[in-house]
Amino acid sequence: MSAPFEFVVVGASLAGLNAARAALQHPSAPRVTVIGAEEHLPYDRPPLSKAVLKSDEHERPALFGSAELAEHEGCTVILGATATGVDTAGHVVRLGEREVRYDVLVIATGATPRTLPLETPPGVHTLRTWDDAVAIRSQMRAGGRMVVIGAGFIGSEVAASAKERGMDVVIVEALEVPLARAVGETAGAALGSIHGRHGVDLRLGSGVIGFEGEDRVTGVTLSDGSTVPADLVVVGIGALPQTSWLDGGGIEIDNGIVCDSHLRTSAPDVFAAGDVARWDNPLFARHMRIEHWTSAQEQGSHAAQNALDPGAATAYSHVPYFWSDWYDSRIQFVGVPSGTPEIVDGSWDAEAFTAIYREGDRVVGALTLNRRADIMKYRVLIAASKTVEDARALARDRAEARALKAARA
Ligand SMILES: Cc1cc2nc3c(=O)[nH]c(=O)nc-3n(C[C@H](O)[C@H](O)[C@H](O)COP(=O)(O)OP(=O)(O)OC[C@H]3O[C@@H](n4cnc5c(N)ncnc54)[C@H](O)[C@@H]3O)c2cc1C
Repeated sequence: MSAPFEFVVVGASLAGLNAARAALQHPSAPRVTVIGAEEHLPYDRPPLSKAVLKSDEHERPALFGSAELAEHEGCTVILGATATGVDTAGHVVRLGEREVRYDVLVIATGATPRTLPLETPPGVHTLRTWDDAVAIRSQMRAGGRMVVIGAGFIGSEVAASAKERGMDVVIVEALEVPLARAVGETAGAALGSIHGRHGVDLRLGSGVIGFEGEDRVTGVTLSDGSTVPADLVVVGIGALPQTSWLDGGGIEIDNGIVCDSHLRTSAPDVFAAGDVARWDNPLFARHMRIEHWTSAQEQGSHAAQNALDPGAATAYSHVPYFWSDWYDSRIQFVGVPSGTPEIVDGSWDAEAFTAIYREGDRVVGALTLNRRADIMKYRVLIAASKTVEDARALARDRAEARALKAARA
């Protein structure tokens, strides 16, 4: 009897789960092994900075298909096990002394939070995992003063959740304009002003040079020498692709695992998916590494399909999408944030607006604030390489539709 075809996934989270589920549904019925460093079955991360921090009762958010994975007879899930390397010539994943053979491998090891190169007393946290969220939440119960370092999306969500729990919140941001890289300066300033409207103190252009407190953090020292008192600190300064375990293993790494448009790495029979993958996105003719839920979910199953049907492999052509919830506002973004955005609906200081981003005449991105029904319509335009004029026409249609609805109400 021939040995079963071994489909191995490293990383038991959103991308890994979707790779494994796609493999289990594949007609070739490979034997599937999922290896994950955390002790938990795959769970959902977006609620960690939102609902989980707001409510002590919120349980670990399950991901669809996660429990079934563990029960599936064709699947072995190895949790609490960190892969330490890959022998690409021998087709083997190493877990310390242990080896797991693969015919095809999908790497979905995600990202890990950036940290400050400073000594940190207890009470200074990063947020990536369920265990991180539980630790932060248990300290939020005492109330008091929270300092969030970094006014990015996750930091902003943490600040909003802490404010909703009644804490005094200060956000310290090194840049003069928050989110400038993610959405551009004008849009970043507009989003940053949401914090002020909710009583959160956003301090821009403030670098952090140290922490006060020994047994427990009592303050954050800024580059101007001043100190912000703190009972709890969350550092939200971005994430790095989780590739250190692959060092020296022959798989090309450059700000993530470098993949072609099919999510194939430089090593034979090895694919990558999710936050760790930097792939060639044909829709925008550039390499991208995206840390968004939707990309991780789609890439997991896409990589698995391509790995199991190499003759019918297709490019992963994708319009990035993410959302972020702050206070009672929903921010959504599709595409890429090129150039200077143009407001096409509402205004920068309004409670709701839409802005578009362009490359030449082509619309390549859209940002909405509290326009939930609109964002996917812009995504369709971007996927079809439509023009800026098409996007302006869509904005006019949407504004008219809203006015009509309001008049009828
Ligand atoms: C707090 C928070 C809020 C978010 N909110 C949003 C949001 O509102 N909207 C949005 O679009 N996106 C959001 N995201 C991003 C989204 O959750 C990620 O894009 C998604 O989780 C990426 O999935 P992934 O499977 O690629 O990687 P990850 O979820 O990072 O999972 C990777 C897994 O691999 C494991 N691993 C790493 N190295 C090894 C190893 N050597 N061996 C074995 N296992 C290993 C890790 O332990 C981890 O479990 C948020 C993320 C966080 C942390």
